[in-house]
Amino acid sequence: MFLPATPEELRELGWDRLDVILVTGDSYLDSPFVGVSVIGQSLLKAGYRVGIIAQPDVNTAADITRLGEPALFWGVTGGCIDSMVANRTASGKRRRGDDLTAGGINHRRPDRAVIVYANLIRRWFKETKPIVLGGIEASLRRIAHYDAWSNRVRRSILIDAKADLLVYGMGEKTVLELAARLKEGRTVSDLRGLCIIAAEKGPEMLELPPYEEVAADPSAFTKMFLGFYRNQDHLTAQALCQRQDSRWLIHNPPMPPLSEAEMDEVHGMDFEKDVHPYDRRRGTVRALETIRFSISTHRGCYGECHFCAIAVHEGRAVSSRSEASILREAERLVSLPDFKGYIRDVGGPTANMYGFECREKRLRGACPDKRCLYPVVCASLRPDHGRQRSLLRNLRRIPGVKQAIVASGIRHDLVLADRKQGIHYLGEVVRHHISGQMKIAPEHSEDRVLTCMGKPGSGGLIAFRDLFRRLTTEAGKEQFLTYYLIAAHPGCTAEDMEALHRFASQELTIRPEQVQLFTPTPSTISTLMYHTKRDPFSGRTLFVEQTAAGRERQKKILVAKKSLLRYGIRGLNPVTKEEESWVRTRTSKRKPRRSLPKR
Ligand code: SF4
Repeated sequence: MFLPATPEELRELGWDRLDVILVTGDSYLDSPFVGVSVIGQSLLKAGYRVGIIAQPDVNTAADITRLGEPALFWGVTGGCIDSMVANRTASGKRRRGDDLTAGGINHRRPDRAVIVYANLIRRWFKETKPIVLGGIEASLRRIAHYDAWSNRVRRSILIDAKADLLVYGMGEKTVLELAARLKEGRTVSDLRGLCIIAAEKGPEMLELPPYEEVAADPSAFTKMFLGFYRNQDHLTAQALCQRQDSRWLIHNPPMPPLSEAEMDEVHGMDFEKDVHPYDRRRGTVRALETIRFSISTHRGCYGECHFCAIAVHEGRAVSSRSEASILREAERLVSLPDFKGYIRDVGGPTANMYGFECREKRLRGACPDKRCLYPVVCASLRPDHGRQRSLLRNLRRIPGVKQAIVASGIRHDLVLADRKQGIHYLGEVVRHHISGQMKIAPEHSEDRVLTCMGKPGSGGLIAFRDLFRRLTTEAGKEQFLTYYLIAAHPGCTAEDMEALHRFASQELTIRPEQVQLFTPTPSTISTLMYHTKRDPFSGRTLFVEQTAAGRERQKKILVAKKSLLRYGIRGLNPVTKEEESWVRTRTSKRKPRRSLPKR
């Protein structure tokens, strides 16, 4: 059932008061892909009365007061995406469209939605129950963080929102335990997965540099971030504390990830997989087209790409569902009246991390000094695509399923590292589970940029491309690889984009049309580099393209029909005279300078 969103629904249920009211920055989609919906349904299943207010009008009391006041707590989230990312493009312009808002117009989610909603509650309910922040926006802003939109280091969002508690990570277990403790009047201060504000720090806590220091000094910010980043494994993490103004932000260690049985339980809940009728009046929610007929097989990612926040939010440990649970969900999809036979995606943050994990990590926690996939796949990981093959095979056998598409990204290095199953997995995907094209994410071709991104070199990419072509030819199909590429990542110069342009046209034989501009989202290693202009591991100074024009230019270099250096600068709009002369030098026959002039 949908969580109630109106007083009429409360009356129909015979509920006079709710235990928990959730407030979200998206329209209410009841789906296992939507965090607030998972949290609400988990609480409902545990016996709590839960209601939801989606995208409240922040100028009046009408929406925020319509379900009354909860008996236990308010839960506030900005939605599935950080509100600044959802509302602004990578160049800072306001987005007009919104895939998570009914009607598709981006006019219902305020910037910094978590702060705005927490203030909205305080405005209309003076002495109210605890306000608990959660979701990706709160999670990634839980300690002092660099915010690119205001170009400064901000305090924890818990302080800025004047809220009481912050649940970070995926949250189900923490929220259920929190609700139980609040109901019984027990303390929550030691609860895993929780951040609180306290007058004193605890005795065993790792003290991070104070806010004032990290806001003023990039090297203190780096020290703080690495201390935070290295304490995110539930088996090894210390509790953290950071002085912010006159108070202490306390960051308790993370909750353990869900077991397979717990994952099955979460995904087996009674989701409507639809938009709540209250929001549906305003129109369709575009995101629903993709997620309604998609299946999530696992969560977590040990890829640790530096620009990605999944390691900090979902964790480095992958939790997979059982095959039986996934097949049951597929059968339920088949029974839906508007299912046309196509499962739009079977995957997770990285499709082919389903079904295996490092034994060492399970026993002792993720290595603090080693990466699972960088610079090469760790020998202890032992990739095994066997369970994925079995899952895909059995999905194909379900009557009514014409195709189960693997649309989530595939790590090509994992495929190549699985000597036993990798080629067979790719063969099956090529034959049955892509619809004309497969997306992979090399991001770049140049080693010095890939190092900044935490991604492997491009040698494996070419081997994978050749294997894909061979298997595609053997399958008698005409299919293509598409490549995610990133421009303006810290450490990437115009020269690097030229090299990527050459690599794309000569080695990959493609002309990229869609290129992602690097967005410095909170709490990633790449954002740390963007802010400090240093590689945090080597201490090396980095070139960071921060001007809007320079960033756009990097993108244009890649999508240009012809090479900038070989064919001239027309239309590419160098920003300064020095840069223009640098480009001209590069286009002449003279020996080129080694690097772009400094600004
Ligand atoms: S042993 Fe290797 S695969 Fe396992 S956690 Fe450490 S780095 Fe990752």
